[in-house]
Amino acid sequence: MTEKVGIIGYPLTYSLSPAMHNAAFQALGLDWEYELMPIPPDILRLGLREPAQHGYIGLNVTIPHKQAVMQFVRADELARAIGAVNTIDLRTNVGTNTDMSGLIDDLNAHGIALNGAKVVVLGAGGAARAAVYGLGQSGAQITVVNRTLETARTMIANLMIYNRNLNADVMTLDEAAEHPIDLIINCTSVGMSPNVDESPWIEGVPFPYGVTVYDMVYRPAQTRLMTQAEMYGGRAIGGVGMLVRQGAAAFQLWTGIDAPIDVMFDAVRSQLAKG
Ligand code: NAP
Repeated sequence: MTEKVGIIGYPLTYSLSPAMHNAAFQALGLDWEYELMPIPPDILRLGLREPAQHGYIGLNVTIPHKQAVMQFVRADELARAIGAVNTIDLRTNVGTNTDMSGLIDDLNAHGIALNGAKVVVLGAGGAARAAVYGLGQSGAQITVVNRTLETARTMIANLMIYNRNLNADVMTLDEAAEHPIDLIINCTSVGMSPNVDESPWIEGVPFPYGVTVYDMVYRPAQTRLMTQAEMYGGRAIGGVGMLVRQGAAAFQLWTGIDAPIDVMFDAVRSQLAKG
């Protein structure tokens, strides 16, 4: 019998996850299938119950359901601390968050030291919460910059409930630019296709020299923010590795088998190359 997993979100017209996971299942000879499941917010409870009743093993969760699903599953401590679930094991109805390990594992894979690093996090949504939580656990000094400052303040206050030693504050972009920076992580959707000429580091604010930029956006592969970093003598990394590594963590959770990371990278890159 084919084992089933999938992703719920809305509108879910485009996702690289089916190609990534199905390539991994095929490479390991597993009779598993990963499906795209668009679920509108008003039927979210049903959207979880139906796959569970039909024997699905697990689900990934994407925009706009990452917070809302927490009412219907048992969120583990990590997901509660981050305030978002992106992976569910339907066998136990436990929800967790693999965005955090996806990001931190990818930063580690790129040899980026985090302990004591001065990191500017752009954004204060679900992805930023995962980033700030993981960076805090890694000993980074974090400055959060967000369009809505109040959202950033609330995010830090919530994360501090779980990590009293979290070294994080909130600044405007102008203020952040005046302080030393080692690493900038873009956790906003600014610069994502089709708005490829936009950057969360807005015109007129001096770009720091020689910093590393990690852009969670992976479409396009080279964002405007990444080009800014390179123009100012820095290093730029796109978000494909985070996408693959958060997926690999979900794969491991569902199957109990180490994910074939290289196969997953190849599948994602070949999908992205199609445009
Ligand atoms: P979210 O919860 O909707 O948060 C969006 C964030 O972007 C908020 O901080 C929002 O600011 C900010 N923002 C949106 N439009 C903006 C604009 N025009 N100007 C300035 N700020 C703007 O979304 P999310 O789930 O955190 O995802 C954020 C991004 O990360 C998306 O592009 C997503 O694809 C990407 N992501 C990538 C991976 C990966 O594996 N590579 C994983 C997760 C997410 P306000 O608070 O002011 O609204």
